[in-house]
Amino acid sequence: MASEFSIIDAYFKPLSFPQSNDSSCKSKQIGIGDDGAVITPPANQQLVVVTDTSIENVHFPAQTSAYFIGWKSLAVNLSDLAAMGATPAFYSLALSLPKHLNNKEWLTEFARGLATLANIYNIPLVGGDTTKSDILSITITANGWVKPGESILRSNAKVGDDIFVSGNLGTAGLGLKSVLNTLPKGFVLKNEASCILELNQPKPRVELGLALQGVANSMIDLSDGLLADIQHILTSSKVSAEINYNQIPLNADLKHYLSSTKDKLFPIICGDDYELCFTLPASKRKLLVSVEEFCQIKLTCIGRIVAGEKAEMKLTGLDNADSKLSLESLGFKHF
Ligand code: ADP
Ligand code: MG
Repeated sequence: MASEFSIIDAYFKPLSFPQSNDSSCKSKQIGIGDDGAVITPPANQQLVVVTDTSIENVHFPAQTSAYFIGWKSLAVNLSDLAAMGATPAFYSLALSLPKHLNNKEWLTEFARGLATLANIYNIPLVGGDTTKSDILSITITANGWVKPGESILRSNAKVGDDIFVSGNLGTAGLGLKSVLNTLPKGFVLKNEASCILELNQPKPRVELGLALQGVANSMIDLSDGLLADIQHILTSSKVSAEINYNQIPLNADLKHYLSSTKDKLFPIICGDDYELCFTLPASKRKLLVSVEEFCQIKLTCIGRIVAGEKAEMKLTGLDNADSKLSLESLGFKHF
């Protein structure tokens, strides 16, 4: 069993130098090994700070491989930066590690998961904390840069905006059902592996977040389910929304699941999508084609923002009578 300091040296120090060609970035920064990291901010940039904790059996099934746990713990943070329209810059890691995972195999794979994603965005691990714990818990704080005033907030949705989401919804949720063996008896996923990959290895939509700077009026990333997360935009912006259920983008497995069960709300309440949801003024609609092409990602209009300070959501297109939802009960909540 490795000591705290040999864990840091062997597995985390190497992550303080991502595969960057920019040597000036290295010389300007003091990272792992002192009491604190010292970062020189680029001129004329605001710092965006996000923190997300991932706990076994709350955020991922305990049997998830160490590589995916590493990847996803960082991905959920980069997804928050993406939702702000920020460029990822550096991150720190507070790791609470149970004894049985303090071994070379687990730590190597965990660090490889972190490094693989961090290398895509060239972001160094600049510090953290390592402690013993009864359950596995990973807290990452990720930091990004944005030009002053260019971050995309939840609070700026305007009446008349169209509401868009990226990718498909509910795929990771189906992957989770598959992993937990809670799919209906006899129901077979055609693309089981890709559903499970969406769950374990979400791709933070960083490029899309950046491309939407100056284009989207408001934005949020989808972690707790579409309906619950849109509600945050409505509440912050003091507006209401109409969502057309039939426009929700779904993959073939999800369509099959919906046609074989009564679980119609599943793709919009299940969570773990890590797609972006944003609102777009009509004047920017033309720009979206080039954003879609540039980012190579499907963007789907699912509804629009309407007047109404009470932050109400009208969901149309469900079989039963159109429903005005009180969303208190929908979406993932910890307490
Ligand atoms: P201190 O006792 O001053 O809090 P630590 O002994 O906890 O410092 O950490 C020593 C160094 O290792 C610090 O630079 C800290 O940021 C870094 N560090 C500790 N744990 C981690 C981790 N899980 N990932 C990255 N860096 C870490
Ligand atoms: Mg100290």
